[in-house]
Amino acid sequence: MNTLISNATVLLPDGTTKQTNIAVTGDSIVKIGAVPADWKADMIIDAHDKFAVPGFVNAHTHASMNLLRSYADDMKLMDWLQKEIWPVEAKMQDEDIYWGAMLAAVEMLRGGTTTFADMYGPNMEKVAEVVEQSGMRGVLCRGIIGVAPNGEAAFESNKKLYRDFNGAAEGRITIMFGPHAPYTCPPDFLRRVAETAREMGAEIHIHLAETKGEVEDCIKAYGKTPIALMEETGILSCGVLAAHCVHLTEDDISLMQKYHVRVAHNPGSNMKLASGIAPVPKLLAAGVCTALGTDGASSNNNLDMVEEMRLAALLHKVDTYDPLAVPAFEAVRMATEYGARAVGLQDTGKLMAGCKADITLFDMHGAAWTPRHDLVSLLVYSASANSVDTVMVNGKILMEKGELLTLDEERILYEANRCAEQLTK
Ligand SMILES: [Zn+2]
Repeated sequence: MNTLISNATVLLPDGTTKQTNIAVTGDSIVKIGAVPADWKADMIIDAHDKFAVPGFVNAHTHASMNLLRSYADDMKLMDWLQKEIWPVEAKMQDEDIYWGAMLAAVEMLRGGTTTFADMYGPNMEKVAEVVEQSGMRGVLCRGIIGVAPNGEAAFESNKKLYRDFNGAAEGRITIMFGPHAPYTCPPDFLRRVAETAREMGAEIHIHLAETKGEVEDCIKAYGKTPIALMEETGILSCGVLAAHCVHLTEDDISLMQKYHVRVAHNPGSNMKLASGIAPVPKLLAAGVCTALGTDGASSNNNLDMVEEMRLAALLHKVDTYDPLAVPAFEAVRMATEYGARAVGLQDTGKLMAGCKADITLFDMHGAAWTPRHDLVSLLVYSASANSVDTVMVNGKILMEKGELLTLDEERILYEANRCAEQLTK
């Protein structure tokens, strides 16, 4: 199957833009530019007045938590988790996991997100089903709370998830291991997770150094920062996607460099939960791959990567009193190229021949896109996810001119509402 995206304004990997064609064969981009004479399109998308960017990678979320959007807000992280979130989550059944993740898929696709890294459970098989059915790319792990009564069972189900789904859905699903955090998984437990992950060839997705209190408690209990403790437990040598990384020492950053830790920065969640400001300009300067995530919809409260790019670009400017901190194109790379690398995908996140055809087209009609002095600047500082028009993943069109082709949106909204009401009544 050959698809020609004709006459688009294409964001190239170096940050420049060019009005040209994107030729897609199967799941990959084969050419940006004039199409070879012997290449015939089966389908043509007229992308005149559309801005083509790599599909966004939401590098840290909890998709099924969409059911808890607006359920408990403006609370301290531990109160929020222990009093409100964990008790409801304990009641979640298969259908809650499924419809919550479906709702997330609707929201993410509508916002131009093509890949998401998800930590949740139980029944992550249901999220894998959502990835299969929606056509998106998913990097999934079972969130494992080592200190919980079901800690061992969750660990086992993460192993099973890896065996059953790693590489499934035409390669769109990757499975990682998901020990939740150092404060919910003791060092011995983390050692076992690290050993198993290494044996199976899986990587790790974990929350690290999210709050000041977490770091202080970790130092009190183990004499080490969370990052240093992760080195000792062997977690860092598995290949790690670390969410948050808000409170870091210089030594932590050196360790992250040494072990090629990839960070999922979640500015919206960190601001809402008052967790602090991650040292993103320092991480980027140190060459630490730093991506963007929304975190769950109950701590953000949306899964909008356009908003997350803007928050990242603005937050670090005001934090450092430096308007050059996290420029617009760097924010876009965090949401695309670095995002892909952070979740372990080598050939996505850029619009160039040989990369997977994960492409988002923005409709540039309207005031937010006028005038067009600088499209990257408009994307980050002016546009909204509402102007996402068409989304392609793995060479397949999942949204066309604002219409979702693989998902029954009305049904999903209805079922998600029904599940959320049942869970919280
Ligand atoms: Zn999280």
